[in-house]
Amino acid sequence: MESTARDFENNAKDALQNPRLQHAMSSIRCGFVRKRAEAVAALPEFEALRDQGRDIKNHVLEHLDIYLEAYEKKVIESGGLVHWAATAEDARNIIVDLCAARGARMVTKGKSMISEEIGLNAALEEANIRPVETDLGEYIIQLRAETPSHITAPASHLSKYQIEADFRRVHTDLPPGRNLHEPALLVREARQVLRQKYIDADVGITGANFLIAETGTSVIVTNEGNGDLTQTMPKIHIVIASIEKIVPTLEDASTLIRLLARSATGQDITSYTTFSTGGRRTGDLDGPEEYHVVLLDNGRSAMLGTRFQEMLCCIRCGACLNHCPVYLAVGGHAYGWVYSGPMGAVLTPNLIGLEEAVHLPNASTFCGRCEEVCPMRIALPRMMRYWREQEFAQHLGSPTTRKLLSIWAWFAKRPKFYRHLARLVAKMLVRMAGGRGYLASLPLARGWIKYRDLPAPQGKTFQDMWKERQNG
Ligand code: SF4
Repeated sequence: MESTARDFENNAKDALQNPRLQHAMSSIRCGFVRKRAEAVAALPEFEALRDQGRDIKNHVLEHLDIYLEAYEKKVIESGGLVHWAATAEDARNIIVDLCAARGARMVTKGKSMISEEIGLNAALEEANIRPVETDLGEYIIQLRAETPSHITAPASHLSKYQIEADFRRVHTDLPPGRNLHEPALLVREARQVLRQKYIDADVGITGANFLIAETGTSVIVTNEGNGDLTQTMPKIHIVIASIEKIVPTLEDASTLIRLLARSATGQDITSYTTFSTGGRRTGDLDGPEEYHVVLLDNGRSAMLGTRFQEMLCCIRCGACLNHCPVYLAVGGHAYGWVYSGPMGAVLTPNLIGLEEAVHLPNASTFCGRCEEVCPMRIALPRMMRYWREQEFAQHLGSPTTRKLLSIWAWFAKRPKFYRHLARLVAKMLVRMAGGRGYLASLPLARGWIKYRDLPAPQGKTFQDMWKERQNG
């Protein structure tokens, strides 16, 4: 049975006991995090760029209706069409109808989290249209009938040995004795297999990192060039994007692209940054005959004007995932829906409802690293905290947690008692730790302590230390 966001706790337990997954996650810890830090250190104006990026997105969100209309006008002027989709179902129907009306049998697809959000592949298959993912990570997880475990690196939960086994299982027309031990050989094989698919596809579907209002352009950034082949070779190109991807100008898109690549992969710029404006024009050597953009709302306009509006500034770089101790411990599949990590913990309850995703805002230590590295400076911990408050207010959490919180609140409202109890507990914890300096077991927190040590208190409470400091 497919897991959902409701299964987070069980999924997380399974993930922690999966040695393969734990090994795969360690490469994110070492790779993306180090590369981002180096890229940021090498760009003195990075902090200023973050402010600019944030200002651009805030401005767009304040005037989203105007920019969306301006964008549509430009797309039409350049020979394309914009389709408005209020819900995931609307978006699926629009795309399936576009494909079916042209007798499409196969579509190639560039990487698109919106396509995952609306469940596009299942809808296409139901209509007897074969979707073929062309991004390497997406191609691999499609072979395994899995969902992405990371918003920029969908197959980051897998080892090269698992991928090799999948290729041998599926590419049965290739010589069984071929060497697939190196990542470069796996990439070459995927390219070889996909080459003909680009030629045979009737429709190419891509996402968009940005949509530019002043020109009606969609922008994709990739490292494999698959997006370019997907959108230029078939006769029809369909872009699927959510409404907050709009930016006013080419200049604005360039600012955000500089932030995106550095934050996502630590690159100055990705290998391919492709701007598409309409279909093929007279004299063009290639390009699609038809150009369609499906603009998805799916709950986003309801976030405008609320405390969650700033979540719409997200440029899907994945930096908050890469720096989140919870995500790095359990991986993306534990979250049970399309978006994982801190950005998923905030966005998912907005899109599918808090009741369905109630565990996700709790999947955080509130260490604050996500906000620290977010290029858009999105206050992710603050919004997760709000969701936790809502969980309590709506009686959605477990009765035990509720009881414990009520007890804590009783003491917190009585500062004298609270201070006294805190001193008592601190002393008790020091005694329990013995000379080890950490606690290896703790009643009422066995689950927490099972996977980590709790450093023993230094003997004094925070409030006592603060008082001493104030007194000089
Ligand atoms: S919330 Fe920030 S760090 Fe996370 S994916 Fe979005 S832009 Fe990147």
